[in-house]
Amino acid sequence: LLLSLNIPCWAAICLAHFVMQNLYVKHYQTTKKLQYISMFDALTGAHSRNITKDLLKPDSTEFKEKYRQPLCVAMFDIDLFKQVNDQYGHAKGDIVLKDFARIVLDSKTDTDVFIRWGGEEFILLMPNTELGAAVATVESIRRKVQHFDQGVCPITVSAGIAKYDGKDYKLVIDSADKALYTAKNSGRNQVVAFQM
Ligand code: GH3
Ligand code: MG
Ligand code: MG
Repeated sequence: LLLSLNIPCWAAICLAHFVMQNLYVKHYQTTKKLQYISMFDALTGAHSRNITKDLLKPDSTEFKEKYRQPLCVAMFDIDLFKQVNDQYGHAKGDIVLKDFARIVLDSKTDTDVFIRWGGEEFILLMPNTELGAAVATVESIRRKVQHFDQGVCPITVSAGIAKYDGKDYKLVIDSADKALYTAKNSGRNQVVAFQM
């Protein structure tokens, strides 16, 4: 009777289906995890720098839809951060980085994109934002950072801001970097907008 009803065959099919389904779910979860790891910085929760080449393709529809102009870019660099590490150790330095990122993540809009550019340097892309509004947002972040107590030591941050001209996004990042350099050379703990 068992054989005539093909029960062993059905049982084998069910088992194979169950195994395949499990493998598929595991594969899906692993892919999602890898995607997350490649898109976000584990320490700060900011985006990883390597997303920029996919995000910032000015010719793509996604870019045009998401990164509406006027678009401004801010580059942040924590002031004298090496001293924090030297004085309190790398682990405390990590706490400072994490708390800085938290302040920006809590201050930005849903459409702003926050990226860890490297070490203690970060970038904030602000779509649909005029230069004046971008300066106000970043200035408010700078003030919050100055007054935030993360239990390690007081820190400050400098930032440079530039407006995207709709062409090569690398140029706007360069300009923000130049403005940041001016902020550093003018005594740090300040926000400077790029002047042509
Ligand atoms: P400036 O105001 O001119 O920016 O001075 P600075 O000391 O911040 O600049 P500098 O580039 O000399 O130092 C950056 C330091 O950031 C050096 C490096 O060890 C530290 N750093 C980079 N990444 C990390 C990290 O993930 N964790 C910790 N704790 N430190 C980091
Ligand atoms: Mg730096
Ligand atoms: Mg620094």
